Amino acid sequence: MAKRRGVRGGAVLAGVVAAALAMGGCSALPADDDQRPKVFTTFTVLADIAQNVAGDRLNVESLTKPGAEIHGYEPTPADIRRAAKADLIVNNGLGLENWFAQFVDHVDAPHVEVSDGVEPIDIAADAYAGKPNPHAWMSPGNAVIYVDNLVAAFSDLDPDGAEQYRAHGDAYADRLRGLHDELVTALEGLPPEQRALVTCEGAFSYLARDTGLTERYIWPVNAEQQATPQQVAATIDFVGDNRVPAVFCESTVSDKAMQQVVSATGAQFGGVLYVDSLSEAGGPVPTYLDLIRHDIATIVGGLTGSGGRP
Ligand SMILES: [Zn+2]
Repeated sequence: MAKRRGVRGGAVLAGVVAAALAMGGCSALPADDDQRPKVFTTFTVLADIAQNVAGDRLNVESLTKPGAEIHGYEPTPADIRRAAKADLIVNNGLGLENWFAQFVDHVDAPHVEVSDGVEPIDIAADAYAGKPNPHAWMSPGNAVIYVDNLVAAFSDLDPDGAEQYRAHGDAYADRLRGLHDELVTALEGLPPEQRALVTCEGAFSYLARDTGLTERYIWPVNAEQQATPQQVAATIDFVGDNRVPAVFCESTVSDKAMQQVVSATGAQFGGVLYVDSLSEAGGPVPTYLDLIRHDIATIVGGLTGSGGRP
């Protein structure tokens, strides 16, 4: 289950690592009395899924905070000091974490890529065409594969807990299958003319496949430069031509470009969708199950005009 990647570039991260090591003796991190094995995930969605498998046997934390932009994240010296204490690192793979190959090369702990075994959907557009769409967790069926990979990785890490991880994983996978059914049932009721899901990032390919929606987006993958005038114009044409009633944008990016689409077409802004990050504990989507349910309600509410949840 543990995989290593070669170094790609590395000059920027090498500087970060040097800074981290230089500061190693004066870490500002609080003393940690927790003796359980430490598992760090690259982002909050994976931390929640991993926590459901780990139960209380492992100390699971996300390296990045709720709301972080995950694709172009730049690890800090503090991240590297934290990861140096890890017994296992969990990442998504499929090209989600651009920074990860360099990062993990500087950390001794093994890592598990939880999308291993997922059937990827390739990105159709722009510079990313032909690369796998990384947002596989947006299909609860794929999340079951993530769970299987976590059960195996945690059992390698802590063999005494193997039975518990299997039991937790089985119970959680049952909830994920139920979630898949909820998703399909909620969206199959949409009339044919309201089955286009228009978002900022092309993060919904797996969800659209599960539910038979037509996916359209302004840009394929979050990056520094996004929403070119051509991308916005193409989205305006699609929304206008297909009389799409509502459009959406995700919590980790600006909705400015989508508001241009709203102004130009008269479509409603249907609300904020969550993909690349959970919310804080007190927010609308503190767990992965909440994330999918929130997005279902927002999409159905927006497309049927019955009011999405903000
Ligand atoms: Zn994304």
